[in-house]
Amino acid sequence: MVRSYIQLKKGKERAVLLRHPWLFSGAIQHVKGKARSGDILPILSEKGEILGYGFYNPDAQIRAKIFHTGAYSGIFDDDYWLTKFQNAFEVRKSVIDFEQTTGYRLFHAEGDFLPGLITDVYGKTASVQLRTPGGEQMLPALIAFLSKKIGCESIYLKKDKEEKNGEWLKGENTGEVIFKENGLSFYADVVNGQKTGFFLDQRDNREKVRLHSEGKTVLNAFSYTGGFSVYAAAGKAKSVTSLDISAGATEICKRNMELNFVEINHKIITADCFHYLKEMPSDWYDCIILDPPAFSKHISTVDNAARGYKEINLKAFQKIMPKGLLFTFSCSQHIDRVLFQKIVFGAAADAGRNIRILAHLSQGADHPTDICHREGEYLKGLILSVE
Ligand code: SAH
Repeated sequence: MVRSYIQLKKGKERAVLLRHPWLFSGAIQHVKGKARSGDILPILSEKGEILGYGFYNPDAQIRAKIFHTGAYSGIFDDDYWLTKFQNAFEVRKSVIDFEQTTGYRLFHAEGDFLPGLITDVYGKTASVQLRTPGGEQMLPALIAFLSKKIGCESIYLKKDKEEKNGEWLKGENTGEVIFKENGLSFYADVVNGQKTGFFLDQRDNREKVRLHSEGKTVLNAFSYTGGFSVYAAAGKAKSVTSLDISAGATEICKRNMELNFVEINHKIITADCFHYLKEMPSDWYDCIILDPPAFSKHISTVDNAARGYKEINLKAFQKIMPKGLLFTFSCSQHIDRVLFQKIVFGAAADAGRNIRILAHLSQGADHPTDICHREGEYLKGLILSVE
């Protein structure tokens, strides 16, 4: 039987040679043999040289996610994955202070040369997402690594894209976890929460909010689990208001504030942020955080998303008190840093106020980006001073 493989069209090897991890259907001449979804297939140039290996997905435009560039004479067994896991962990050891922070991203898919695999650690619990067929081939090594090297007693796997279904790979429980981030305590729900339960990518940016909050009246819009609210309070904000459209989210936010503070000037609002920003008076807040969900998950929705970002930023510019600070973010993959800045500039021009950029923000170092995979740079933010 012929071993299956993917052969590229003439001249289409460039992206693979440049180590881009996604192989699009348009580059493929043919798939030889009886390849099934999730198989690990070698990727051959038109001349027959092996360029790399990837997880095959006949149903997606990204026909293969490449995890290994170049030829490989061994087999992709547990030892192969364990070496990759160890390399990713070494990076975390150098960027995370495990005394102060027990919630962090251990494996960041393409950013750790592990396409399709996301793993967040919350103390002794790990939350795993597999986003490519075939990714389950990594699971035996993953369970061993998380158990032996990280000390995980429970491992939860979120199965589908909608994140509704999941199963415990180890140590079944309710999914409620408590962990530390920069010395502060947080609660998250790895079973029912969004993504893996908590947005760990904002850790460094939350720390920036702590540094800038003293004496400020802070509005944390799109507050979800209240990460920014807790840091603002820890930074001695005069008051903190957390706003989210979901009552479930504001409940978690309240719980996280109570985990850290006995007495705190904290107000919770369950409302639509677009409406709230429009209606609120202009002398309420001198620090506003806008960290909305991805308005654009697909390239076709970029225009609508751009309008959404412009609207909330414009309202914030119009309503923030003089000398106010705006922390504004976008996690939409299809809105890159340059476009986001243009949208925010547009809002600033319309608001007619003097605005300075104090800092450009990004995802934390435990969410690394493969330099050949610009699509991995998804979180962008600005700290703006509004006169
Ligand atoms: N800033 C958060 C993450 C935000 S996730 C953090 O640091 O963890 C996005 C949140 O926006 C979700 O909780 C969702 O319920 C909320 N949301 C979505 N649309 C909204 C709207 N129109 N108004 C207010 N909140 C909204």
